[in-house]
Amino acid sequence: MVKINENFLKLEKNYLFIDIAKKINAYKEKNPDKKIIRMGIGDVTLPLAPVVVEAFKKGCDEMGVKETFKGYEDSGAGYDFLKQAVADYYKNNGVELTLNEIRINDGAKSDCGNIIDIFGENVVLLTDPVYPVYANSNIMQGNTIIYANSNEENNFTAMPSDISVVNEEQKGFKEKIVNVVNKIIKPSLIYLCSPNNPTGSVYNKEQLKEWVDYALKNEAIIIFDAAYEAFITDSSLPRSIFEIEGAKKCAIEMCSLSKTAGFTGVRCGYTVIPEELVVKKGDTTIKIADLWSQRQGSKFNGISYPVQCAAAAVFTDLGQKQIKENIAYYQANAKIIADTLTKLNIKFTGGINSPYIWFKCPDNQSSWEFFDRLLNEIQVVGTPGAGFGKNGEGWFRLTAFGDKDLTLEAMERLTSLLS
Ligand code: PLP
Repeated sequence: MVKINENFLKLEKNYLFIDIAKKINAYKEKNPDKKIIRMGIGDVTLPLAPVVVEAFKKGCDEMGVKETFKGYEDSGAGYDFLKQAVADYYKNNGVELTLNEIRINDGAKSDCGNIIDIFGENVVLLTDPVYPVYANSNIMQGNTIIYANSNEENNFTAMPSDISVVNEEQKGFKEKIVNVVNKIIKPSLIYLCSPNNPTGSVYNKEQLKEWVDYALKNEAIIIFDAAYEAFITDSSLPRSIFEIEGAKKCAIEMCSLSKTAGFTGVRCGYTVIPEELVVKKGDTTIKIADLWSQRQGSKFNGISYPVQCAAAAVFTDLGQKQIKENIAYYQANAKIIADTLTKLNIKFTGGINSPYIWFKCPDNQSSWEFFDRLLNEIQVVGTPGAGFGKNGEGWFRLTAFGDKDLTLEAMERLTSLLS
């Protein structure tokens, strides 16, 4: 009989968005005339920039002409024209990369999950609350997960000193951790996400340096998710982990054009694996980038040519100007939400260098109690923080990806509900 990967049976089904949809549908059935404003969506709503559409179409046209038609790409890691555009973008932030260090992909989610193919069984550190993809992909791989707490005390920026002791609950499905309950165990893979989904918090350079130093000291590798770097406006904050000294020896970075340029439906991103990132096995030095080339060479055949043309257009001067107009629209929404919460004296993180606003539920309500209250009383939908991990309980996420007028209306409704 066929054997399945039994690690899949350990996945806790995440009902978060299913439960939200159920509650909305039930409410709509009872109240068909009420206008619901959805502020929980993590998807973009503005269309692609005109220069991107133009390049996309041009790429398609070239595919229809014998002389410019493209079949399989040689490496599957992206055409040089796009890798060069990404390298130039990094250079503007003071980070020098070779083209071989840049790998074009179909968005950050795939590589966040797939990257663990090249690693063996590891103890993986996640910050809690967390983007669920990191947890699920590591559970499927049979890795042991430990957590660093992001909470009100550390302003939702978990540091190495916040790594929690292993608790009984974790041991439950981590039968491999024996005799470690109530102890701290050291991770060998560390996932960091900044600007963070769901909390909107951003590591500053000193904080990120602490993580880099920790990883170097413990011979761990950091997987740094920079999917929201384009939302950073404060120039003192790092947009890439490679702005931090030493990071090229201990980090892999994933980024995406999904939120930067509205590519959620187009699909394109990039992973950066520095040449200097190596592991030692006996006398042999193994480059992580080479392992990834082998993995991708066997399981991936690259991104379509027209998509890469569209992606390259994002990095042109005109492309940057046009996508920044869209980002500014979302940032203005984030400010509307943040200003409202400030006026209402509600504690929050994010909203300034991030499209996410993460706030404490008023009146000590739980995340789901507050969700119901917003839906039933003012017909505004957000995302209960409890769905992202234990430290999310009592917190709530709103996103800035919606329509400006609806965001304003939702904040007026919130103000009248709470003041
Ligand atoms: N990383 C984070 C933190 C995200 O929030 C998301 C999407 O919401 C992704 C990665 C996935 O992005 P992509 O569309 O590039 O796969």
